[in-house]
Amino acid sequence: MTHTGPVAEHREIVVVGGGAMGSAAAWQLAGRGRQVTLLERFGARHTMGASHGRSRNFNITYEKPAYAVLLHEAARLWRELEHDSGTPLLELVGIVNHGAGVRPDLADVLGALGFQASMLAPEEANERWAGIRFDTRVLFSPDGGRLDADEAVVALQSEAVRHGGEVLLQTPVVEVRPRSDDRVEVVTDDTTYLAETVVVTAGAWTERLLGPSAVALPPMVVTEEQPAHFAVLDPTFDWPGWNHMPAPDEARYDYWHAPAYGTLTPGEGVKAGWHAAGPACDPDARTFAPEPVQLAALQRYAREWLPGVDAEAAAPISCTYTSTVDTDFVLDRIGPLVVGAGFSGHGFKFVPSVGRILADLATHNSRPESRFSARW
Ligand SMILES: Cc1cc2nc3c(=O)[nH]c(=O)nc-3n(C[C@H](O)[C@H](O)[C@H](O)COP(=O)(O)OP(=O)(O)OC[C@H]3O[C@@H](n4cnc5c(N)ncnc54)[C@H](O)[C@@H]3O)c2cc1C
Repeated sequence: MTHTGPVAEHREIVVVGGGAMGSAAAWQLAGRGRQVTLLERFGARHTMGASHGRSRNFNITYEKPAYAVLLHEAARLWRELEHDSGTPLLELVGIVNHGAGVRPDLADVLGALGFQASMLAPEEANERWAGIRFDTRVLFSPDGGRLDADEAVVALQSEAVRHGGEVLLQTPVVEVRPRSDDRVEVVTDDTTYLAETVVVTAGAWTERLLGPSAVALPPMVVTEEQPAHFAVLDPTFDWPGWNHMPAPDEARYDYWHAPAYGTLTPGEGVKAGWHAAGPACDPDARTFAPEPVQLAALQRYAREWLPGVDAEAAAPISCTYTSTVDTDFVLDRIGPLVVGAGFSGHGFKFVPSVGRILADLATHNSRPESRFSARW
């Protein structure tokens, strides 16, 4: 049965999905004076997708120039959003990478990409960050930091509204229907929007929403990721964001489920997690119950590598990754549809730049960086 709310509303641009990426697209489009309506199925500050919580790493240790360019732009745009919204969002607490795979030349590589970076001996790092245990060389960058995800989404949406955009929460879209006249009907329970262009940023629900519209997307897997917050033992400890890579051939890493990452979440403790280790899931059928094996392994990780936390006091978090095979994002336009998807657990730091790219695609009919193309 085809849903047909009353055809009541014409819009230039409709954005479906008000997580970080959709909110950033609406912010950019409204800022350019475009008529934009953002439709989000859940309420404000919901915790059902991938953009909730008070902390995300602004990790700058990307060697791919395409990502380094986006990072420099994002750093500038985060400050712009902070200034306009009056909300602090990005705190440069630094980022450290340690473990296997931290090549001695990495600081130079990042330096060549325009980032401050240096190599530290483990003793120096242990001295500086007593809450974390290091036993290899450590890459440190003061250009890395921590983002406040919850406040970022609120700031993006309120800035979109301040520039004349419309943000409708608790408004699930039941169908996205491209028409032969190159416009799109966006159907909700009580309204059908007829739009010139539709931006789809529906996260874990992207394939479900776009499947019927015959838009061919690269394969993506939705997983439920469950990092946890651990109580801090000494509030005076300094906490950078970190990435910790295991050595595949060393037995002491056998219990690891994936590379580990983490950061301090002010007021909640230290967040630690396995990167992209969660089970595939239906985002609407999650139990949100902690996965006991991974949680126990995470607590062992905390006992062995995070002397600054109480490994027994763990509060698991549920969140979704939507991952492409190569972890590159999908940022592309197919006819009147613009798609932003597949952020593969590393998209938050790039949010304002992704918003700019999606707005460019929505308004200029431009082509994306080939790396982000939906063609595969
Ligand atoms: C545990 C975890 C840790 C992470 N850590 C980092 C990090 O340290 N650094 C970093 O850079 N990135 C990190 N990320 C990744 C980052 O958070 C995501 O890439 C980003 O939040 C994705 O945003 P999104 O807008 O695509 O998805 P979402 O936030 O999931 O947004 C999709 C939105 O679409 C809405 N929607 C879906 N279907 C419909 C519909 N039919 N109608 C209306 N609305 C709909 C949903 O309700 C949702 O709000 C992490 C992610 C997780 C899960």
